[in-house]
Amino acid sequence: MTLPTLPHSIKNIDPHSWESFHPYFAALQEYPLTQDNVHEWLTYWSDLSRLVWETAAWVYIEKSLDTTDTQKEQTFLDLINHVMPPAQMADQALKERLLALEVSDLGIPGMELVLRNLRNEADLYREENIPLQTEVSTLDNEYDKITGAMQANWDGEDKNLSQLAVFLKNKDRAVRQQVWDVISALWLGQREALNDMYGHMLKLRQQIAANAGLPDYRAYAFREKGRFDYTPEDCATFHTAIEAVAVPATRRILAKRRERLGYESIRPWDWIPERNLLADTFAGASLHPYKNEDELIQGGLNMLNRLDAELGRYFATMAEEGLLDLDTRPGKALGGYCSTLAVRRRPFIFMNGTGMHDDVQTLLHEAGHAFHTFETAELPLVWQLDAPMEFCEVASMSMELLAAPNLTQANGGFYTKTEAARARLEHLENIITFLPYMAVVDSFQHWVYTHAEEALDPANCDAAWDAQWQRFIPDMDWTGYEEVRKSGWHRKPHIFGSPFYYIEYGMASVGAMQVWRNGRQDHNAALAAYRHALSLGGTQTLPALFAAAGAEFRFDTPMLTELIGLVEQEIETLEAALA
Ligand SMILES: [Zn+2]
Repeated sequence: MTLPTLPHSIKNIDPHSWESFHPYFAALQEYPLTQDNVHEWLTYWSDLSRLVWETAAWVYIEKSLDTTDTQKEQTFLDLINHVMPPAQMADQALKERLLALEVSDLGIPGMELVLRNLRNEADLYREENIPLQTEVSTLDNEYDKITGAMQANWDGEDKNLSQLAVFLKNKDRAVRQQVWDVISALWLGQREALNDMYGHMLKLRQQIAANAGLPDYRAYAFREKGRFDYTPEDCATFHTAIEAVAVPATRRILAKRRERLGYESIRPWDWIPERNLLADTFAGASLHPYKNEDELIQGGLNMLNRLDAELGRYFATMAEEGLLDLDTRPGKALGGYCSTLAVRRRPFIFMNGTGMHDDVQTLLHEAGHAFHTFETAELPLVWQLDAPMEFCEVASMSMELLAAPNLTQANGGFYTKTEAARARLEHLENIITFLPYMAVVDSFQHWVYTHAEEALDPANCDAAWDAQWQRFIPDMDWTGYEEVRKSGWHRKPHIFGSPFYYIEYGMASVGAMQVWRNGRQDHNAALAAYRHALSLGGTQTLPALFAAAGAEFRFDTPMLTELIGLVEQEIETLEAALA
């Protein structure tokens, strides 16, 4: 018995139909599997998965490039409704066959981790949870609908939340306050609906955990997310370290800001932690680093070439092969992302650049993700690419920091020395001020899912959120806006749709700060370690990936004291240069 030859590229595949993939899955399912041919069988399955993954990635990219193209949208809908569900079921059946064989690591790097993940998924699987999970997804979709429908009249025009949020960046404090009032009223208007929805989700999630034989949903979420290398206690240690180190560092940043701007206190429209938005410090126009996509690509390429010739070549390859779509235009979906094309072994970067500094920052971030794809191109099995989220963001956040010295024109970048100093200062401040907010979001959820009975009363949720807020973000003046503060948990979509998914960003930033610290001591060694760690993909555990990058997987007070101390030192140097 032989397995049918797979298509060489997704160009020969019809993405609308399960029949495009079905014969290959069926052949794998029927193929007599033994200890002797399991390697060959796995390779075929991996190559088939690459075709499925790249098809899904490409259909999504094409749809997001032009949301007005109804054909592209239909292709996407056909794929998620008619191709992906049977593909997932076929995949599950193959997993069961592999696990039944009780193979060991097969001499394949990282295979024991792949098997560990498969076994974990199989252990957690309960058929009776599928309808409950669908119900949770429906509620989450409802959250998107409620928030998507929020709109208010601003300057004679109806504007939605993201259109209103543009004015939160206004330099005029009165304008910021005015739009903040409008946005807060929209959220308070949905307070009861969101409370009800969250309570409903909480009950469903508790039931899902109980069905899987776990004491609470926190225990379930940690298993589901494959958090094998840290526990809720480690998260609490991280929270304590943030309280001890990042909270006072944030207080110092806010105090300087108050002094420069002449404010008596920091009000909710001066610092908006859920958007990581802090009122502009320095006089002078906003940065306008480039005029069109070509200029952004050229500047990015110059900066990356300065950093490392090989990384520069990766980026040039993306430009040559049409794997960068960076300008905003009507009809393009919002946001930015980096996607992997698993067959071509190439990344694709999607962005909505408007000529502002944020775009340069986003490009460097996504370039870090893209380099992860390039560095893992040689790994034979597709599952070996699957690095944990906590480390994927080390790849991207480190790149923002490592490339930052090249923001100046003298180093290939976009800015005068002064402009570059402003951009770097803002970036470093954001790294510090993000941590207290991250801790509020994370610790609130630890409370909710370990106090499910109490959390069913929304007043208790408000009180729990408020307690965490006072603990980590004590230096703001909310007089007259207490209800908005207490219901702040409504304004973080992760809390509704992706419980416990947030601390990953905090952990990754601690990893990235260590890579940056190492680079200041020995640039070449730090970069070599960074690239090596990326090349490991998901073949090693989270602590081992951190170690390969030259970082410790540790989130305690001494660690944060060292790193935030260094960041504050750098902030002072930049401030002195700007003074
Ligand atoms: Zn990212």
